[in-house]
Amino acid sequence: MKIKLNCNFENLSENYLFSEIGKRVRAYSEKHPEKKIVRLGIGDVTLPLPAPCVSAFENAAKEMGSKDTFRGYPPEYGYDFLRTRISEHYASFGVDIPADDIFVSDGAKSDCGNIVDILGDNTVYMPDPVYPVYMDSNIMSGREVRLLEANAQNGFLPMPGEECGRGVYYLCSPNNPTGAAYSEKQLKEWVDFALKSGSLIIYDAAYEAFVSDGSPRSVYAVDGAKECAVEICSFSKTAGFTGTRCGYTVVPAELDADGVKLKKLWSRRQATKFNGVSYPVQRAAEAAYSEEGMKACLDNIGYYMENAKMIASLLDEKGIKYTGGKNSPYIWLECPNGTSSWEFFDYLLEKVQVVGTPGAGFGKCGEGYFRLTSFGSHEDTAEAVERLRGLL
Ligand code: PLP
Repeated sequence: MKIKLNCNFENLSENYLFSEIGKRVRAYSEKHPEKKIVRLGIGDVTLPLPAPCVSAFENAAKEMGSKDTFRGYPPEYGYDFLRTRISEHYASFGVDIPADDIFVSDGAKSDCGNIVDILGDNTVYMPDPVYPVYMDSNIMSGREVRLLEANAQNGFLPMPGEECGRGVYYLCSPNNPTGAAYSEKQLKEWVDFALKSGSLIIYDAAYEAFVSDGSPRSVYAVDGAKECAVEICSFSKTAGFTGTRCGYTVVPAELDADGVKLKKLWSRRQATKFNGVSYPVQRAAEAAYSEEGMKACLDNIGYYMENAKMIASLLDEKGIKYTGGKNSPYIWLECPNGTSSWEFFDYLLEKVQVVGTPGAGFGKCGEGYFRLTSFGSHEDTAEAVERLRGLL
């Protein structure tokens, strides 16, 4: 073939992190088949869907099987019943988002990757370490990316500074991988900076349901955010939808760049390239916001946070520094005795067969750190904690 390909793909780093973890774990298991490995590295949920979501899913599937209630293509921006529910969800924590500014999608990852379609050639800023989708989607479209160091000094929450110019800023709070969450005061600083510099914030709130200390659950908790921020969110971690797929993006009607409404562009982008989320999935997502649905979601989150507590109290006991585990299912710890992320990974695998995620895989500033997650079962987490207690 002689066609030209998108040469920006050559600039992507290999998907090294999870394939390398898989390789090392497989090699260890082949050598020691008798050893039980406990995984605290996954970012995927393990509890089943909340019962109210399952009933709604089943009922909607039945509707699709009957001539009178069958539905064809869904509206490309989401059914009104779900957009209204999401708007009510925002209202439940004091944020006013009209249903019409909410665009339902098949998940936050797609929206994080697709949002670049409506943006021109801006400088793009994001924290290091970072959720890799922001980085890779910008590299694929040939954008210049600048990194903002997230480190122990700034509590893993970079703030606007001298190195920040006008551009597009990715913020994720509570953060993956560090588990740190911006306070309202810190977010206000970002919003003020964006308004003053003419920048756009792309705010990833995928873990908003884990906020437990009154930190903002949405960038729109801050005045002025509707003039400078898009927010991307997901049912994946709130309601266990990682395998069911539903998310949404808020593009406020107020947002414009030189008189052009971002909402108009995103509407056009979605109408052209996206054909909506299936009806049963949207009914299941709607059910997550019912009284019983929300209770079941919060029970599941509470279960994961028990795991986070087990891990955090071990680290407290051992005097190991960490962030997260409070507003987030992630715990980001400093590898003891100055070991590197991968050395620590190998040490835990060899000595106690506990698998986590080396921080270096999320960016240069992740070197010397390690991510543990609380998405496992109580039994596995307790076992991992006991093994680590004996080792560290
Ligand atoms: N944003 C962040 C920060 C995440 O950690 C994840 C998944 O782990 C996503 C988005 C993806 O969410 P979804 O499952 O809705 O695509």
